Amino acid sequence: MSKTKLLQPDLVLGDTILGLTPAILSHHQIKGLVLDVDETLVPLKKSEVSEDLQQWVDTIRQVTPIWLVSNNVSESRIGSIANTLTLPYLLGAVKPSRRKLRQAVQAMELPVSDVAMVGDRLFTDVLAGNRLGMFTILVEPMVDAAVAARSYPIHNFEVWLSQILGVSLMTSPHKSAQNDKPLRS
Ligand SMILES: [Mg+2]
Repeated sequence: MSKTKLLQPDLVLGDTILGLTPAILSHHQIKGLVLDVDETLVPLKKSEVSEDLQQWVDTIRQVTPIWLVSNNVSESRIGSIANTLTLPYLLGAVKPSRRKLRQAVQAMELPVSDVAMVGDRLFTDVLAGNRLGMFTILVEPMVDAAVAARSYPIHNFEVWLSQILGVSLMTSPHKSAQNDKPLRS
């Protein structure tokens, strides 16, 4: 697999994680989820879990196991978010290292290709997931409205560099995909 391919998400959601539905998971035959935390679930400046996110987790956990794997080393922040959501978690993952992603996938007792890595960053979440052979989903970052109005230099730089490397970040046509044949069989 080329380096460019390692940055290519299998699915570009074009929405925050709240747009990831059981139908989309089923369409891609995803049996487990590893989620990034900062800006995938909760804006960086916030520590409380939104009611929308709690409801999303309660819906999705009925169809797949969920683990949180964060590069953040703050036990108080990540532990508190995970405990509020009653989800298992791993800290200090150093993504794009595969080590803690592998640990979460092994805990689910699922084949690695049946588990999706979901995150807002290409060079950590998507790269780590692709390196391990997971299905990878790029989501829009969960940000405060006030912060969103400002620019996102690192995120924008990653997008710019990825496109030079040939990564396609066109939103995947998942919304009309239910009638298509599964992408993987
Ligand atoms: Mg993140």
